[in-house]
Amino acid sequence: MRLRNIPGAEEIVSASPFVIHAPAQYRGRWGECFGNDHPLRIEVGMGKGRFLTELAAGNPGINYIGIERYTSVLLRAVEKANKLEEAGNGKEESGNFRFLCEDAARLEEIFAPGEVDRIYLNFSDPWPKERHAKRRLTSDRFLAVYRRILRPEGQVEFKTDNMPLFDFSLESAREAGWRILGYTRDLHHDPMGEGNVMTEYEEKFSALGNPICKMVIAPGPADESKLE
Ligand code: SAM
Repeated sequence: MRLRNIPGAEEIVSASPFVIHAPAQYRGRWGECFGNDHPLRIEVGMGKGRFLTELAAGNPGINYIGIERYTSVLLRAVEKANKLEEAGNGKEESGNFRFLCEDAARLEEIFAPGEVDRIYLNFSDPWPKERHAKRRLTSDRFLAVYRRILRPEGQVEFKTDNMPLFDFSLESAREAGWRILGYTRDLHHDPMGEGNVMTEYEEKFSALGNPICKMVIAPGPADESKLE
């Protein structure tokens, strides 16, 4: 995603009630942040927030956290959330999502073991060079982190239009002992696509004719590998 320095972005993001600063304070007790004990689902590499805010509106009994490392991108999600609130889409909807301006490398400082019910990865950066493979959000080191913060029955859902990244991700999950609950290389023409909520990137790339891939995986036997 191309980044621009947007004047005022820091101030708007800092002042937003949707953005949680110092999120490690809620580690192990995110229910206190939301005022309920609903399941917690997170999107890592959220971008502009369309997927997360739509899911939140449709599922008031679930809490959602979107994680995006760049303020300039998070700003767009904050603007979206503000519009939803202004449009009177209801306090209930806007009450069940929050945003964090954080890097995925900090996930274990923010979430306690077993605290997360589901992790969404949508159109994650491909990092095509082999020497950058560890930075991919579906690499073994991130899968090991997801295994620790997910509850035992939890799941990771991953979507992309990037076939090499998808092949890498399936292989990475298998090698790390995850169970592949389902996958497709053409989500928009597959039963797995029922009820699909599109992301900004998904809309853009599917409009270009790119098939969308999706896999759903669940932690299998323990994996002792650690995030370096
Ligand atoms: N998920 C959105 C979508 O599908 O429209 C955005 C996809 S965009 C290609 C990937 C996003 O992930 C970017 O906004 C990027 O800043 C964010 N990102 C990449 N690596 C990240 C990391 N390690 N921690 C947090 N965000 C990250």
